[in-house]
Amino acid sequence: MNSPSATSPAFDADVLVVGCGPVGVTAALRCAQRGLSAIAIDRSTTIYPLPRALAMDEEIQALFERAGLLGAIEPHLAPLPGAEFVDASGVRVVGFELPEDTVGSLGHPPAVVFDQPGVERALREGAVAAGVDLRLGLTVTAVEQDDHGVTATIDDGTALRARWLVAADGAKSAVRDLVGIEMVDQGFDQTWLVIDTTLLDDTLELPRLAQQRCDPARMTTVVPGPGRHRRWEFRLRPDETREQILEPTAIEALLAPWAGPDQLRLDRSAVYRFHAKVAETFRRDRIFLAGDAAHQMPPFNGQGMCTGLRDAEMLAWLLADVTHARADDSLLDTYDAERRPHATEQVAHSVDSGLLMEAIAHQPAAAALETGYGQRRFPRRRGPLVTGDHPLAGGPLPRASRPLSLPDGWVLLHTVTGPTPGSECVPAVVTTVAVDAEALPLLVSDTHSTLVRPDHLVAAVTDDPTGAIARLVLPTLPTESSHS
Ligand SMILES: Cc1cc2nc3c(=O)[nH]c(=O)nc-3n(C[C@H](O)[C@H](O)[C@H](O)COP(=O)(O)OP(=O)(O)OC[C@H]3O[C@@H](n4cnc5c(N)ncnc54)[C@H](O)[C@@H]3O)c2cc1C
Repeated sequence: MNSPSATSPAFDADVLVVGCGPVGVTAALRCAQRGLSAIAIDRSTTIYPLPRALAMDEEIQALFERAGLLGAIEPHLAPLPGAEFVDASGVRVVGFELPEDTVGSLGHPPAVVFDQPGVERALREGAVAAGVDLRLGLTVTAVEQDDHGVTATIDDGTALRARWLVAADGAKSAVRDLVGIEMVDQGFDQTWLVIDTTLLDDTLELPRLAQQRCDPARMTTVVPGPGRHRRWEFRLRPDETREQILEPTAIEALLAPWAGPDQLRLDRSAVYRFHAKVAETFRRDRIFLAGDAAHQMPPFNGQGMCTGLRDAEMLAWLLADVTHARADDSLLDTYDAERRPHATEQVAHSVDSGLLMEAIAHQPAAAALETGYGQRRFPRRRGPLVTGDHPLAGGPLPRASRPLSLPDGWVLLHTVTGPTPGSECVPAVVTTVAVDAEALPLLVSDTHSTLVRPDHLVAAVTDDPTGAIARLVLPTLPTESSHS
């Protein structure tokens, strides 16, 4: 880990993160790990207690592994055995199963279920250990920026000044409103009751996979959480109110087809509007939106938090490169250019799952599948930091079959059997690393090499690294990094 950069006396920190939900705390942690001083503040003194995120994909597990946090969060995770959409009588229309011990291309289970408050607690501990100055019980009420930094006014009458501000203050982001960034509605709005329970009766038969029950009488989601945790989500009918559905008797009636009151313990419940919205821009000068402040999506694909964590991971290296004078400010333009279209696709993907549920509920299975909903591919990043049409470009770097340790920064992976690309074709900001082609056969061969970004995304798989590098917005300023 790098040591924190010297903070100018004019600044309280390099980065001020507003909001210590999973996205804000991860952004602060990754900034600190990249040598930036970071203050993270939250208006709440506790972790959000109501049921929210439950599923995490493989890329996010890999991110936490790089951050040195996987060990701390692992006790709160369990592999997801699969997912399915079933009709009103419980017959599967579409789905997938993941045999136990399935490992994906990044070396982790393709998806895990988790306890959000438990993971958030571990993230906060990790952030403090990495040097983040976590300050709770503080609300940002105003922001002002100039050519050099951002000043945030705090409700205790003080102010904090930083070079950059990351607004990870959730769906109702005050910072987003203060700087006048509008949300663009992507056309989805449903109200759902979400219930977290603990299984008390081991003989109870519940769906083994995450199940979307597409019943026109009551759309329902059932998810086996980690350990004894079980999640239900029920869509409200137009004539039902939030207050009515949260009554214990109403919840008991909804759960009755699945379990009796002595078979489950009700832990927490909440009613949410499932929206689909994306901010018109993710950046206003020195202020960057991340997480739910930047995008909101229905949770059917378990991607809201994951999408926000991708924002956090990208932002951390961009801010570090610019603050440490390894790149000029234009590198920061790539954040909106890449993250906004990617998040927009992710939102559309999640909306599709909601539309597929509707289609299955109201049409025969074959006709529902013909709508094409749910067949969209998981989006890859595009934009100025990805080039070429190789299927792995814009996605996370697969795990090598032999141990591979990458230096910080941009890396060109090339085969051990070929010549080491010289400085005439690789700029100083890129470190060349020779890899046995058998360890990463899809990415490295006698003809192909792979350019990897500091956030371990594949920027290019190419037979022409010089050309690929020329097409990318790479940091242009020299660094001390040397060719290996
Ligand atoms: C029912 C449901 C199920 C979901 N399931 C999944 C899932 O399976 N997988 C997944 O990836 N995502 C899922 N999500 C989405 C996920 O929960 C959110 O995307 C994620 O929690 C957003 O994190 P965040 O850090 O951006 O915002 P938040 O967690 O909302 O954090 C924002 C923080 O900012 C603070 N704050 C607000 N205003 C201020 C201010 N002015 N000053 C200081 N602090 C402030 C708040 O106190 C809060 O702590 C689900 C959501 C719901 C509702």
